[in-house]
Amino acid sequence: MRLRNKPWANDKLAQYPQYVISSPENLKGKWNSVFDTEQPLHIEIGTGRGRFITGMAQANPHINYLGIELMPSVIVTALDRVIEAEVPNLKLLNANAADLTEFFAKGEVERVYLNFSDPWPKNRHEKRRLTYKTFLKQYEDILIDQGEIHFKTDNQGLFEYSLTSFSEYGLLLKWVSLDLHQSDFEGNIMTEYEEKFSQKGNRIYRSEVQYR
Ligand code: SAM
Repeated sequence: MRLRNKPWANDKLAQYPQYVISSPENLKGKWNSVFDTEQPLHIEIGTGRGRFITGMAQANPHINYLGIELMPSVIVTALDRVIEAEVPNLKLLNANAADLTEFFAKGEVERVYLNFSDPWPKNRHEKRRLTYKTFLKQYEDILIDQGEIHFKTDNQGLFEYSLTSFSEYGLLLKWVSLDLHQSDFEGNIMTEYEEKFSQKGNRIYRSEVQYR
């Protein structure tokens, strides 16, 4: 993703407390209070410019959604989408996924979405991959029992690595596609990266895995 410096991004995020969560550590154990309706919470990590999470919130009003993104200059574009969408079941959080257990209590999250996560192809950067075992442990620590991770990428190396990592962690592989757009999966909502890379002819890989 080409990042433009947006020095005003943090100020803009602060101007929309109704959409952007500011002190997530104070909400640990209380995330339902953030949304109008008490219902399951699904989070996307590395939400980018927000196309996926906004589409999911519009399509599934019975689920609450939280898009988590590290870069203020990126999530500020997601904020524009959220403002326009005007849906009560969607919020954003500018934070690092490495801190998830500071924000959520065990069982507060029903599902984690990872879409086109940075592949970090060098071996020495393995620990940064969002499907590395330490991240899988963090997700386990905030998910309900038998909670799920739904993962999409066009990066074959990251996909293969992740399937191995899920399997070594003991996760159940519930659904795997090596070509999502040619599969029978219904209701796919494309991310910005998915649209860009599939237009280039890249195959999209997708999996659903479950904690036991
Ligand atoms: N999911 C979007 C899509 O498919 O269009 C964006 C994909 S982009 C390659 C990966 C995004 O993950 C970037 O916006 C990056 O800033 C974010 N990211 C990477 N590591 C993160 C972390 N530890 N916590 C939160 N966001 C992270």
